[in-house]
Amino acid sequence: MPENHLRRMVMILLMVLSLALASCSGGGGGGGDSGFTTADYQFLYTYNAKNLSGHTIRWANVPIGVSAGAFADARTAFNRWTTASDGAVSFNFGGSNIPVSWSSSTSWCGLTTISWSSAGRIVSARISIARSQAGCSGGVPDTLAHEAGHAIGFLGHDASGLMNPFGGQDISDQEARFMKLLYSLAPGTDITGELGKSRSSGGTYDKTGSTIHTMTISRSK
Ligand SMILES: [Zn+2]
Repeated sequence: MPENHLRRMVMILLMVLSLALASCSGGGGGGGDSGFTTADYQFLYTYNAKNLSGHTIRWANVPIGVSAGAFADARTAFNRWTTASDGAVSFNFGGSNIPVSWSSSTSWCGLTTISWSSAGRIVSARISIARSQAGCSGGVPDTLAHEAGHAIGFLGHDASGLMNPFGGQDISDQEARFMKLLYSLAPGTDITGELGKSRSSGGTYDKTGSTIHTMTISRSK
């Protein structure tokens, strides 16, 4: 049977070779097999995974339910994230995961309170939109889209793009890639191996999700 043996050896060699080739085809900056770069992972870490010792925080299921019947602009505002993420995140406007309501506050344009479990699953997010949008760049449509970004996992404020704290800008390419990457990974995915260097972080990941963390973020006037 030496011929069979040789054939098997060649087969194994070919398999190893094709695997090696496949793992090299990830493209440019490295960091995953979908064209995401180390910089994309670092951005995801800074505005999301940093809050759970390097594990992703997102809604477990899409489409995400939105209850915003009082807002004529809600569908268009939320769907900006669907377009930006190439459909990675999407919404069901008959659902109730994210309730959106009006507020009489005059100290901020919009406010989101978001909670997630220590397993990386967002368990609730409530959005309040100020009736008075005086001093809020882009008014209700932009404030809705900005708060939607928080409610689906952008935990903080960027220096530019839609998630800058003062508004007036559209979703940046970096923010679009953030959302696409976040919703292409399972909740609680450890991304620390993709960061290029070690980072300090808060929150303790635990796969049972026994602890709930809450953050309130507002878009100030
Ligand atoms: Zn904000």
